[in-house]
Amino acid sequence: MQVVRDPAEFRAKLLSWYNQNRRDLPWRKDRDPYRVWVSEIMLQQTRVAAVLPKYIPFLKRFPSVRKLASARESSVLSQWSGLGYYRRARNLHAAAKIVAKEGKFPQISDAWRALPGIGRYTAAAICSIALNEPVAVVDGNVQRVFRRLTGQTHTTADSWKTAEALLDPIHPGDFNQAMMEFGATVCLPGEPLCATCPIQAFCSTRGRDLSASRKPPQQKRKITFALSSADGSVRLVRRSNRDSLMPGMWELPATVSRRKPLFSLKHSITNTDYDVRVITAATADGTPVKLSRVSQLPLTGLARKILSRAGVI
Ligand code: SF4
Repeated sequence: MQVVRDPAEFRAKLLSWYNQNRRDLPWRKDRDPYRVWVSEIMLQQTRVAAVLPKYIPFLKRFPSVRKLASARESSVLSQWSGLGYYRRARNLHAAAKIVAKEGKFPQISDAWRALPGIGRYTAAAICSIALNEPVAVVDGNVQRVFRRLTGQTHTTADSWKTAEALLDPIHPGDFNQAMMEFGATVCLPGEPLCATCPIQAFCSTRGRDLSASRKPPQQKRKITFALSSADGSVRLVRRSNRDSLMPGMWELPATVSRRKPLFSLKHSITNTDYDVRVITAATADGTPVKLSRVSQLPLTGLARKILSRAGVI
């Protein structure tokens, strides 16, 4: 499906806008495949604002794919804590072991897709940015831009074909980043900023996105955790390895109590918003963990937030 009548002019306008307006993000400082790879995995289903405080510390702790490959999984999960979707960290670690054993990075996107945790989008993003391979990306932002440009809903297969046809073959990495940046900062999911849009001349809807699907509402849940600390230890429980969410991670024991909380906070995980109460308890389920060890454990983001608020870490 042809989205724009003059692809060359579209590319020129979009790239010119990107070169003048792109955000100064740490993963754009160079095109090293390892650094690009780490950023792309962290950015999967995660906002830029959440990735920013985690990216540089992760690279300081694991500055190369060899260092990452030789690390213990618990160290990788601990460093990932707060980013959520921990399967990504496990897959990144497993993939690093494969790359370290091979002694070099895969050189084309199809070969990257053979690694754990790397699908078509991520392989194309890494290879276009780090290796200048002319492969297009499609994510939710790109699909929304296509939908608004044409006023029509595209199947996913159509979107990939369209993106490949529109891609700038000389600057594939910049073009892909420009499309995603444009969707994230101008052609916004709610109210697009059409008045400042650099490609408005190509757009048939100019913001009237009648076919947009609405995001389902967030669910609400209340939960209470017991903070039980004594003798320089705090009691924590380890989630089962069979849990679909955050398997093997450590958290505070959940409890049922109507007592006045020590403090309350809010926390969101995927499509659920939690009202969290934390009570102090003389005793609770779980294992006593020395305070000096706690911050080295792979804690869930919520556990880290509670322990930080309580002054334990
Ligand atoms: Fe998006 Fe508005 Fe630009 Fe169309 S004119 S591409 S809706 S920002």
